[in-house]
Amino acid sequence: MAGDCILCGKCLEVCPLLNATGREELGPRAKADLCAVLTADKEALSEADAAKLAGLCLGCHRCKAVCSQGVDVPGLVAMLRAAHPDFRAWLWKQWLTHARELWAVSSSAAKLIPKKFQPEKFGPMLKMLAGLKGGPGLEPFLSITSFPDTYRGEKMLLFAGCTANYVQTRWLMTALRLLDGLGVEVLSGDFQCCGGGLKGAGCLDEARVMAEHNVAVWRAAGKPKVVVFCASCRSSLEGYEEVFDSSDEALEWQKNIFPLSGVASEIGFVISANCPKTLGYHRPCHVDAADSDCRLLQSALRERLVAETKRECCGFGGVMGLGAPGLTDQVNRRCWDRLGGAEIVLTGCSACASRLSATAPQGVGVGHWLEIIR
Ligand code: SF4
Ligand code: SF4
Repeated sequence: MAGDCILCGKCLEVCPLLNATGREELGPRAKADLCAVLTADKEALSEADAAKLAGLCLGCHRCKAVCSQGVDVPGLVAMLRAAHPDFRAWLWKQWLTHARELWAVSSSAAKLIPKKFQPEKFGPMLKMLAGLKGGPGLEPFLSITSFPDTYRGEKMLLFAGCTANYVQTRWLMTALRLLDGLGVEVLSGDFQCCGGGLKGAGCLDEARVMAEHNVAVWRAAGKPKVVVFCASCRSSLEGYEEVFDSSDEALEWQKNIFPLSGVASEIGFVISANCPKTLGYHRPCHVDAADSDCRLLQSALRERLVAETKRECCGFGGVMGLGAPGLTDQVNRRCWDRLGGAEIVLTGCSACASRLSATAPQGVGVGHWLEIIR
């Protein structure tokens, strides 16, 4: 149950924006405090100041995870964004509600536009798009040696997410191959976007439409397990509210969301000769505490996994990346400081993969962990 902020400051330690900038006014406690002031008196801040405050949050949810009072700062920020929509929120909404038509074409095009011809206003958006397409892709170096029988014969739905559906289709192909090897029957279900990016940007009605659609797909399939391989999509799916027939159904939905790396944890892997000597793992902000992606990689790569982020955010930031790219770049640099020394960085989130791919140092490869599987 959400309570009021008691200004304890516990969330200050985990906020990547505050940690990267040292500016407490950008941290969760200040946001919670200002939102409380605005709730009591809507005129307490000017329209411009309220819109500015609404723009400055990465939506990483780290503060929410540690708050003993259940204060949902990114949720408060999303409500502020909904109340103070701007051009960037509009752009973000078009981008996420037209993923099928826009993503593949525009991410390829963004990579072709020379930097000097990029309009300054759209620079952050073009950088984001180019990252979505990523580099040439990682050369696979993890071969499958055995499949367990744990899930053989089970029926599951696969929630691939927009990036894998429309741009990085090789992730989807590998996920299907793993599930096939495990003996899982993948049911057909036309999921839409998880809606997480829309919700974070304050496009609450659009996010709800997506959630209703996805839950309807699950119901029509007989409420099976839903396997996900993007940490942000999974967190968004697990956070669905108010679209269920009852609290029992909401619980049933949450219990049926599984990370692919958890389902694949007993698959046998062996590394081949082309495996780089040094690899890094970027822990997405939205991954759960168990982090089965990390455990799968630790078990398969062992001592070659030399660098790992724990608290550092990639600085993707959703709609904030469009409005305050200087700040999200500061956050991103701290992430790369931690990943130094790795020839290849792997992650399990489509947003992190695109952000790190767009900002990787020369010669460093970035990809979803699915890319390294032969
Ligand atoms: S948001 Fe939660 S953790 Fe942060 S200061 Fe308020 S009560 Fe403490
Ligand atoms: S969601 Fe992340 S960036 Fe936003 S206030 Fe909380 S910890 Fe900071």
